[in-house]
Amino acid sequence: MSIDLHSHSTASDGTLSPTELVKLAKETGLDAIAITDHDTLQGIPEALEAGRKFGIEVIPGSELSLESPDGAGWMHVVALWIPPDPRELQTAFDWVIEGRMNRNREIVKKLRSLGINITYEGVANRAKGTIGRPHFAQELLSLGVVSTIDEAFKVWLGDNGRAYVPKRKLMPKKAFDILNNIGATSILAHPFALGLDLLKTEKLVKELIGYGLDGIEVYYSEHDDAATKAYKEMAERLGLLASGGSDFHGSVKPNIRLGKGKGGLHVPTELLIKMKEDRRAKGLPI
Ligand code: AMP
Ligand code: FE
Ligand code: FE
Ligand code: ZN
Repeated sequence: MSIDLHSHSTASDGTLSPTELVKLAKETGLDAIAITDHDTLQGIPEALEAGRKFGIEVIPGSELSLESPDGAGWMHVVALWIPPDPRELQTAFDWVIEGRMNRNREIVKKLRSLGINITYEGVANRAKGTIGRPHFAQELLSLGVVSTIDEAFKVWLGDNGRAYVPKRKLMPKKAFDILNNIGATSILAHPFALGLDLLKTEKLVKELIGYGLDGIEVYYSEHDDAATKAYKEMAERLGLLASGGSDFHGSVKPNIRLGKGKGGLHVPTELLIKMKEDRRAKGLPI
């Protein structure tokens, strides 16, 4: 009995449509799936409809990119149970997406100045929703500039890549205020990606609890047993919900399978039951 509370569709940088994603979740035998596209709500209505059609629970979500509180980096927060038409959140996403459009133009400029014959249109044609670096990676691959998606990130697009351009991000306080106001459940995504040791991670997590953080991603494709155990204990110690998901993106991350991650992932359905109990206790809809 397992679930997957972190997945991407063509509404952001995944390669399956929301319908295909939900269908795959059903075929995989999952009890529930959360659709959590980056900085967009676009895929949610279709995913919910597919959930009804295929008979599987779909939790409407999104993954927000935030500045870290000390401004030294970034962090991702998965928001679950986003209500229909969350005006405040949509306004924030509009601002983020406007920044993305400028950034995408900048990345094209940088790549072209480095001698690569890439066009904005070529990249944009690969995206159905928000355009992000994975679409650039696919275009670089098809232009023969790189031979793998990973190489595209390592050499060109990644944080140390030659054509890296930072992304416009929301400030944590503001983002959490919005998530609290709309009654979403907020989960710190892939905590290992913060690049902090466990002590520093815990310090940051405590700060985020002050903002309204509800839980952390304990089960994740890139977490080994030791990491899973450490985050599970951290969640228990701090009274946080435990969440988990694969971060499935389809063929741009071919080694990550929905619900199964790299093969060893198992996110117990029990976590979802606990989350619902928590929401009920707070008078929030499920
Ligand atoms: P962006 O939101 O445009 O900054 O792009 C970030 C996205 O790129 C992440 O959410 C991942 O989906 C993807 N990504 C980052 N590094 C890699 C990598 N090495 N291989 C494949 N996808 C990656
Ligand atoms: Fe992504
Ligand atoms: Fe993420
Ligand atoms: Zn993700």
